[in-house]
Amino acid sequence: MSKCKGYAALEARAPLGPYSFERREPREHDIVIDIKYCGVCHSDIHQTRDEWSKYQEESIFPMVPGHEIAGIVEAVGNKVTKYKVGDKVGVGCFVDSCRTCSECRQGLEQYCTVATIWTYNGRDKEGQPTYGGYSDKIVVDENYALRMPENLPLDACAPLLCAGITLYSPLKHWNTGPGKKVAIIGLGGLGHMGVKLAHALGAEVTVLSQSLKKQADGKRLGADHFYATSDPETFTNLASYFDLIVNTVSAQIDWNEYLKLLKTDGTMVIVGLPEKDIPLGAFSLTARRRSVAGSQIGGIRETQEMLDFCAKHGVACDIEIVPIQKINEAYERVLKSDVRYRFVIDMASLGK
Ligand code: NAP
Ligand code: ZN
Ligand code: ZN
Repeated sequence: MSKCKGYAALEARAPLGPYSFERREPREHDIVIDIKYCGVCHSDIHQTRDEWSKYQEESIFPMVPGHEIAGIVEAVGNKVTKYKVGDKVGVGCFVDSCRTCSECRQGLEQYCTVATIWTYNGRDKEGQPTYGGYSDKIVVDENYALRMPENLPLDACAPLLCAGITLYSPLKHWNTGPGKKVAIIGLGGLGHMGVKLAHALGAEVTVLSQSLKKQADGKRLGADHFYATSDPETFTNLASYFDLIVNTVSAQIDWNEYLKLLKTDGTMVIVGLPEKDIPLGAFSLTARRRSVAGSQIGGIRETQEMLDFCAKHGVACDIEIVPIQKINEAYERVLKSDVRYRFVIDMASLGK
């Protein structure tokens, strides 16, 4: 075992503070990553506050969050072939899976029917808790690591590992491209990547935000249109307009109102994961043969495809760098929708 430093919530809803813990010795297919940056996802907040307890078996405390991990390979096991010391690598939301079920064999490890092993707040195959990227190092099997873009800054690419892939996967699955009208609800960490990626894929992109405060940013990120959902006229002006709506909102909103904005055969994909369930009316779906769907991050193969796409198109995240000591303030700002557009922790602030 090797000693690691990080930040943890010692119990549900407790503020995060310094925490020491141990990680396994690297095995033959493991790489050891010196973590340089870790993005702050709203899921970190939901989980440290135990807001998903209804949907999960258990939440494990102390919890070291963080699943947008970018760093440099520091050591490799003797059978590692994909990476060498010095490579720029990343780890996203999971660190292992069964590897044999039909989903794993298709590269859909995030839907593993046995058990996707989450980067934190999960248990590894030995039943030990997993700890995330708000820490100095991580040990991971080379098959569950990603190669980061060489031509883009590592800090601005860290959030691609969750926010980027969570939007890329449904945009691709529902055939986003030229001629398609796509709406993104919520311009936060996920939403701003949705705008950049849908724009890079050639779609017409509309942001549906609570107010017009972020309008100039939305346009700069690649949106063609920007509407405030606080204005009832938005819902009349845009009725039956979109092919695809991706809902990134972390809180309860009335999905039925947004479904009316889909044209015939349109789909609303839910990626935001609010604490409470939201009622769905039959008529909002039957009226135009509309669908509502869900999507969860992406598999390793697709995540690498997304990183390569971002490298090719020069797409990275808009970030605000914070020291780890400011993490609790950063959480409060995310909760107020006051993040432009992802906090990334500079792990050098942990100190040696
Ligand atoms: P975020 O940065 O906080 O962004 C969420 C955005 O939703 C806010 O910026 C805000 O946008 C909008 N919003 C917030 N509260 C709202 C409210 N009460 N009513 C209407 N709009 C509201 O969060 P994130 O990191 O992007 O994550 C978003 C959600 O996705 C979280 O629930 C997270 O757990 C989930 N998630 C899911 C996956 C997956 O695989 N499915 C992966 C990662 C995260 P405006 O200011 O523009 O209105
Ligand atoms: Zn996330
Ligand atoms: Zn599996």
